[in-house]
Amino acid sequence: MLIGAHTSIAGGVYNAVDEQVEYDGNCGQIFSHSPQVWQDPNIGDDEAERFRERSDEAGVGPWVIHASYLVNLCTPKDDLRVKSVDSMQKEVDAADTLGIEYVNVHLGAHTGAGVEGGLDNAASALDELDVPEDVTVLVESDAGSGTKLGGDFAHLAGVLERSEQDLEVCLDTAHAFAAGYDLSTAEGVEETIAEFDEVVGLDNLACVHLNDSKHACGTNKDEHAHLGEGEIGEEGISAVVSHEALRDLPFVLETPTEDGRGFAWNVERARELRA
Ligand SMILES: [Zn+2]
Repeated sequence: MLIGAHTSIAGGVYNAVDEQVEYDGNCGQIFSHSPQVWQDPNIGDDEAERFRERSDEAGVGPWVIHASYLVNLCTPKDDLRVKSVDSMQKEVDAADTLGIEYVNVHLGAHTGAGVEGGLDNAASALDELDVPEDVTVLVESDAGSGTKLGGDFAHLAGVLERSEQDLEVCLDTAHAFAAGYDLSTAEGVEETIAEFDEVVGLDNLACVHLNDSKHACGTNKDEHAHLGEGEIGEEGISAVVSHEALRDLPFVLETPTEDGRGFAWNVERARELRA
């Protein structure tokens, strides 16, 4: 089973590999810089080489870079669009330097441009990127609060259809649940995956962000919980990690570190819940 956590690159990006191994993870995700500010990834070639070597030695991969939270691909505002495209270009370039396969990004909020306008903006912004051959951009499903797009699977499909890039999708279980897809029962998981296949296509699904949700289905509230301890619960998480269409994908945890439980606990839990 490919399961790992979002790990820190503090002290050097290669430290993320050691941290992953500590959690008993074998794939994972990083921020290339602080995601709350506009900042460039500052990763030297030596550091990148150490990251690649340690990942190979430890058998950890694939890795995902999660883009900055400030990036808004759907925005109708020119200045924000320029900054977003610039930031994304640096992320895909950093991924290439690190030998990282995926850069994951939220579509962002259309802030008045409307759903169709927002999807047009996102696709055309992504089309401005020069994506290195070995890197793929993943658009992530969203909890869908306010004017944020990506809550509805049709939004993800809409960007894939509009864009000339070879995009794929990351499905976040907590976000999809908050957006109204009921993943709390085996039947609900079956129906949601069937719907995803119909609308987006399972061929386009590259990664799962495996999180339980602190809030109920359809609330659009994005707050992650420990696996099996939230509103999705054991039955739902078990059905997700065991599903035939998902079981070979990388599962990346963005679970909280609270109540004395961290990523190691959730990695183990994910393995236990696989049927
Ligand atoms: Zn996520």
